[in-house]
Amino acid sequence: MDLNLQELNATEFPVPVELENNIAITSLSQLYNWGRRNSMWPMLFGLACCAIEMIATASSRFDFSRFGFEVMRATPRQADLMIVSGTVTKKMVVPIVRLYNQMPEPKYVLAMGACASGGGPFKEGYNVVSGMDKYLPVDVYVPGCPPTPQALLFGMIALQRKIDGQSIANGDDVPWYGEGPAEPTPVPVLGPDIIDPRQMDMIRRQAEVAASEMELLGQRELPALTQLVAAKVETAQAATAEAGPLDEDALSVVLPTGGTPWAEAEDIREKRRLRALARKALRASRRASQAEGE
Ligand code: SF4
Repeated sequence: MDLNLQELNATEFPVPVELENNIAITSLSQLYNWGRRNSMWPMLFGLACCAIEMIATASSRFDFSRFGFEVMRATPRQADLMIVSGTVTKKMVVPIVRLYNQMPEPKYVLAMGACASGGGPFKEGYNVVSGMDKYLPVDVYVPGCPPTPQALLFGMIALQRKIDGQSIANGDDVPWYGEGPAEPTPVPVLGPDIIDPRQMDMIRRQAEVAASEMELLGQRELPALTQLVAAKVETAQAATAEAGPLDEDALSVVLPTGGTPWAEAEDIREKRRLRALARKALRASRRASQAEGE
């Protein structure tokens, strides 16, 4: 991208008009930001449907190379920008954070779409995290499901504006120039539910409290039906232990309502089917009366 000398010259030090196109007086921060903002290399990876829009943004019709997002790198070690494009599952967040840790500073994160920004249509699903910002420092959020290529370009330009506002004189803006190596972002632990290692102490304390309460309260009781089945099986096994193989009739379970669990399940299915048919008939009659009215 061309260096706009007049833009760089916007300082308190006046430059004679005849020299404006030859001399630039600027700050080191501005020069540094100008170089960095115009040579962002995104990491080449996509997670779900949003990735298709990201691919479209890179292709010739939209072409984010025009803004300096020139080459997508297939290795985190050569990338500046992580575009989280798609649904972040609990299984996937672990390698994503690991990849982020492998990117050199300065590095940025763009959450593309509703899923990466806050869980999207799958929010609070058993397998989806509710936003990438719970695990990584997100710089720009691009809303939409999916966001259009124009929206992604707008988000990328917003990131460039953010970089423009940074100053290398301010340690908070550019922490990667601080003393010593930066702390890596903790990689979440994939378990029954995802665990953030930063909250490990609190989780451990909660587990201890829950365990001590369990001791006081005793074991959690099994549901009534499970108890009934277990008792039946135990009795049948005891009765037939010497007489030979298990008798299936002896194992059949009769509920307090008089039916069997399987018959009740069939009843429920039949009731649901009838309700669905009734709803369908109602919709059809409404459509017919609308058509008559027209
Ligand atoms: S935000 Fe919408 S389009 Fe993007 S990954 Fe989620 S569901 Fe797919």
